[in-house]
Amino acid sequence: MSPLTLSSASEQAVRVGLGRVLIVEDEALIRETIGLALAEVGFEILVAEDGLSALEMLGGTKNTTRRLVQDVDLVILDLMLPGMNGLDLCRLLRYQSIDVPILILSAKSTETDRVVGLEVGADDYLTKPFGMRELIARCRALLRRHRGVSEPDPDPVLRFEEVTLSPKECRVFLKDEEINLSPKEFRILELFMSQPKRVWSRDQIIDQVWGHDFMGDNKTVDVHIRWIREKLEADPSKPQYLKTVRGFGYRLG
Ligand code: CA
Repeated sequence: MSPLTLSSASEQAVRVGLGRVLIVEDEALIRETIGLALAEVGFEILVAEDGLSALEMLGGTKNTTRRLVQDVDLVILDLMLPGMNGLDLCRLLRYQSIDVPILILSAKSTETDRVVGLEVGADDYLTKPFGMRELIARCRALLRRHRGVSEPDPDPVLRFEEVTLSPKECRVFLKDEEINLSPKEFRILELFMSQPKRVWSRDQIIDQVWGHDFMGDNKTVDVHIRWIREKLEADPSKPQYLKTVRGFGYRLG
């Protein structure tokens, strides 16, 4: 495997900009395999063959020359290294408040090793042998977490005409004015707003809002609808939102 392959793949990664990964591993074959797999999906790769050179690249030694220090977004760290082992390196980095995310690779798989690894400040731990897809997924997850980029939240707010309902915050607004609903009234309105224009029978509303163990009769639904109308409708006797569908039930709009 020529170093040229790796570096040209890395150049591509700069453009994609997934992040710069430092692989600290003394076994050349593993280093190259991981490096190529990560470069292929868009990471930029740096390598170190032992703990001390990794420490230098991360700016963790007192006599590090500026030239050696690299911008690194993620460290993949083998535990069994010549000289300074992975755990010591990890501990040293954290001691110096170098907070780059660290993923430990280890041939050991006991729970204790895992715990020790995480205790010295590693963020994740993968046991050899592992699949490349798993490694790539872990790297992506770590970077995402570290950068504080959360998956975009789908807008959870329900809207119908001038009514806005936020299931997350349990709040309802009519235009800009907040409407105070009881929990059951809220659940009923949420049900209607989840499917505007759909007709719901009283039994269906009871099933959805109260559940199967409801003990009252379905007049309860009518009472709650009346209460919601009083809070929501300009004229509760001529509802604009919660309409009665004779013989069937109720509908929003
Ligand atoms: Ca090793």
